[in-house]
Amino acid sequence: MKIAVIGTGYVGLVAGACLADMGNDVVCVDNNVEKLNQLVKGIIPIYEPGLEELVKVNLREKRLNFSCDIDNAVKVSQVCFIAVGTPQGEDGSADLQYVFQVAKQIAKASNGYKVIVDKSTVPVGTAEKVSLIIKENTNQPFDIVSNPEFLKQGNAVEDFLHPDRVIIGSNSEKATRIMQDIYAPFFRTGNRVIIMDTKSAEMTKYAANSFLATKISFMNEIANLCEKVGADAEMVRIGISTDSRIGNKFLFPGLGYGGSCFPKDVKALIKTASENGCEMEIIKAADDINKKQRKLFINKIIGKFGKDLKGKVFGVWGLAFKPKTNDMRDAPSITIINALLDMGAKVKAYDPKATDTAKFYFGDKIIYTNSSYEAIDGADAMILLTEWNEFRRPDMEKIKTFLKQPIIFDGRNQYNAQHLKEMGFQYIQIGR
Ligand code: NAD
Repeated sequence: MKIAVIGTGYVGLVAGACLADMGNDVVCVDNNVEKLNQLVKGIIPIYEPGLEELVKVNLREKRLNFSCDIDNAVKVSQVCFIAVGTPQGEDGSADLQYVFQVAKQIAKASNGYKVIVDKSTVPVGTAEKVSLIIKENTNQPFDIVSNPEFLKQGNAVEDFLHPDRVIIGSNSEKATRIMQDIYAPFFRTGNRVIIMDTKSAEMTKYAANSFLATKISFMNEIANLCEKVGADAEMVRIGISTDSRIGNKFLFPGLGYGGSCFPKDVKALIKTASENGCEMEIIKAADDINKKQRKLFINKIIGKFGKDLKGKVFGVWGLAFKPKTNDMRDAPSITIINALLDMGAKVKAYDPKATDTAKFYFGDKIIYTNSSYEAIDGADAMILLTEWNEFRRPDMEKIKTFLKQPIIFDGRNQYNAQHLKEMGFQYIQIGR
C-alpha cells in the first residue's frame, strides 16, 4: 500500500519505518528540511533503539522515502497519517494548529479517495473538526480515522511492531477495512485490532495515559507517606504489585512522570472535561502530586545543604526524561537542575544519549562530561535523575573516592541502602 506519514518525529518516523518494513511504500514528510536532509542520508536525529537499522534497510530497499513535498506525497498515497506534534497550549489544551494545517494541505493536494488518519494524540471531537477542514478544501472523497499511538519512547520500534492492541476509530466500513489491511501483518498470531467510533478512540488514548500517570502519582503519594511513618516504599511496591489486579508496572516511586506525553495529555484531558462541565478530580490530583514530587526532591537537597548553594558542586547522572531516549521534553532534570542553578550551585552532568539535547535546555550553564565518574569528580554530592542501565551497578568505592563527601541523592531508588550505609554513604531516596 502507498502511505504518507506527515510529521517525522518520534511517532511518525517510527511508524513510517515500521510500515515500510512490512512492505508498504512509505513517504515520510516533514517541514523541517534540516531533519529531512539528515534522514535521507540515514542519519537519525533522535535516539531510539533499533530505529537506525530499520530506517537504513528500508531506505536501501526504497520502500521508505523522505520528502518535504506534502502535495506529491498525498497524491501518490491512498492513506495519509497525520503524526505532527500536539503540544500543550497556554490554557492546558492540546494545540491543534499543526494538525489542522496538515489537514488543509492534504485536502488541497487530494486527487481521489484518501483515508486520513489522525495518529497524533488529539482531544475528543478532533476527527470531526479535521473532517470539516477537509470538506472545506476539497471535493474529493475521503474518510477520517482516529488511530492513536501507544508506543513508548525507548522501546518504540518494538512496541510498534508488536503492539498490545491497535485502536481504530472509524465511522466508515471502507476505511476500517483499509486500516485492518495495513495492520494485519503486525498481528500474525491473534488479531488485537479494536474497532470503535472516532470519539471513543480519541478518548481511549487520553484515558490510557491519564490512568498510567495516576498510577505513578498514586505510588509517589504512598511513598511520601512511607517516608513519614518509617515504612519502606520499595517493600510496599513489591507487596502490592504481586496482586495481579494491581500489576507490577508503573509503580516505582521516584521523581514523577515527564516527557512529551503524560504531562500534556493529563492537562488536555482536564481541559476537555472542564469545557464539558466535568471535573476530573483524580486526574487533577495526579497532576498536582506530580508537580510536587520534583519540589520534594529539591527540598531533600535543600534539607542537606541549605538554600544557598554557592560554591557547591553537584554531579548529575541522567538528563533524559527516561532511559533509552535522548528526549528531555518536560524532564525532571530540567526542573531540578534549574533549581540548583538558581540557588547558586555548579552542576556537572552526564547522560549516555541526551547531552546534545541538554545543550538546547541549559546551554553553557552546566558542564557536560563524557563519563559518569567525571561528572561526580570533586562534587559535593551525586544526584541520580534517570535510571539508565549503566548507572545500575556502578563501582561504589570509586564513587566514594571521586566525591568530596559520600552523599547520593537518588531520584530513582536504584541502590542497596544497607550496603551504601555500611560503606559510609549518606543515601537519600524516595519513600525509604
Ligand atoms: P515530534 O515533535 O517528535 O514530531 C512532530 C514532527 O512533526 C516534527 O518533526 C515536526 O517538524 C513535524 N511537523 C510539524 N508541523 C508540520 C507540518 N505542518 N508539516 C510537516 N511536518 C510537520 O512529536 P512526537 O513525539 O512524534 O509526537 C507526535 C504526536 O504523537 C503527538 O500528538 C504526541 O502526543 C503523540 N504521541 C507521542 C508519543 C511519544 O512517545 N513521543 C507516543 C504516542 C503518541
